[in-house]
Amino acid sequence: MQKPSIRHHCGLFGIWGHQDAVALTHLGLYALQHRGQESAGIVSTAGERLMRHARLGLVNQVFDQQVLDRIRAPRAIGHVRYSTSGSTTQNNAQPLLFSFAGGQVAIAHNGNLINAALLRRNYEKVGHIFQTTSDTEVIIHLLAKPAHQGKKNPLNHVLNHLQGAYSILLLFPDRMVAARDPLGFRPLCLGETKSGATVVASETKAFDMIDAKYVRDVEPGEIVTVTDDGVESRHFGGGRGGRGAACIFEQIYFADPSSLVFGENVHLVRVAMGKKLAQEAPVEGDLVVPVPTCAQCAATGYAQASGIPYGRAFTTSHYSGRSFILPTQSGRDMAVKIKLTVIKEAVAGKRLIVVEDSVVRGTTTRGKIGALRAAGAKEIHLRVASPPIRHACYFGIDFPDPIELIANQKSVEEIRDFLGVDSLYYLSHEGMLSCVRMDRNKYCTACFSGEYPIDVKEPVEKFSMEQSQLKMFT
Ligand code: SF4
Repeated sequence: MQKPSIRHHCGLFGIWGHQDAVALTHLGLYALQHRGQESAGIVSTAGERLMRHARLGLVNQVFDQQVLDRIRAPRAIGHVRYSTSGSTTQNNAQPLLFSFAGGQVAIAHNGNLINAALLRRNYEKVGHIFQTTSDTEVIIHLLAKPAHQGKKNPLNHVLNHLQGAYSILLLFPDRMVAARDPLGFRPLCLGETKSGATVVASETKAFDMIDAKYVRDVEPGEIVTVTDDGVESRHFGGGRGGRGAACIFEQIYFADPSSLVFGENVHLVRVAMGKKLAQEAPVEGDLVVPVPTCAQCAATGYAQASGIPYGRAFTTSHYSGRSFILPTQSGRDMAVKIKLTVIKEAVAGKRLIVVEDSVVRGTTTRGKIGALRAAGAKEIHLRVASPPIRHACYFGIDFPDPIELIANQKSVEEIRDFLGVDSLYYLSHEGMLSCVRMDRNKYCTACFSGEYPIDVKEPVEKFSMEQSQLKMFT
């Protein structure tokens, strides 16, 4: 179940050189649906014009067999979107498709460009007309600029203008291009099908879905070009081996547990975080329960390390709709109530160790704790498998305004009191970083630490582009 207070971002999938490329992209998007539920789209080509179908809705609502047959082609890119920049409107649904002097191009993007509003304003001042309110579109305006097209490697030049987080896929009639920003905020990996077609996806779960094998990650600052002649790689933005800023929240919450992200299996990282939490904050109890379902991996780790049995405290309804889209707290609370039912007989009279992956506003967690109390839990000890979230994210995660983050406003003891638990412990920053194998200097932890890997001069908010337009016309 999704946290109502954290919105996912986007998922990318691309495949080059397979007769069923569109059908496989469709499957790949199913595998990535957890990364975005507002819109879905595919652009495909047989080498001439690009064909697009993108709409608001879930993958199963956006595509039917007729549509898939209409855009059938051996090369395709796809996208599922949760908007962290720009409204939820049909024309913001990706992949976006454009025609410019260099021909047709489609783009799919995961991340947030922190200088997009500035770039857009500059273009609008000289008469450019934007078709969307997404930050992604500025990349195409940069690419189409004659001065940039005149460069030896136009895309290298364009990407060097961007600041922030971007994993992107571009589809031209004669090539597919995958690129990751120099700090590597968002994941992107390369794979290969049994027939030898090259695939690209945000997470390896999409490869598993189509029986493709994982080959490697697209490196931070790397551009990978796929054509009928093979795969070529080049680097931009300072080359390889520099500092990184891979989003640690991918490991904590966003990515699917079955995926390899930043070279590590997400489930195992989360289990390690649960184990670390048990070492840092042991407590006597009868049952370790995940607050369903995203904390299952961390709760497994806590139970393994503590020797306390793991069990369920809630059942989850899969038929109650999408609570995360509800705009008010009372609406979200009711949606959680509809979605989760306490198993009274499993918790009554027990000392529960409740494991959460993260606490954002705290209101939803409080509702679940209240339900456990009402069901007769004797003690409730909350263990959170990440540090307190105190700061905003400008790189593609739609956390609430910092003043709505409970840890930004209250001490741990005040949070314990607010949530109504007997004890509360958050995984330490050190403890969190000890659970990942990649060098800690390659991770972004800014929402916990406030230490941003990029100087954010003009924070991009979800509606920055709309606001920019309003400013121009008022
Ligand atoms: S601020 Fe937090 S959520 Fe945003 S990229 Fe950094 S680690 Fe991820």
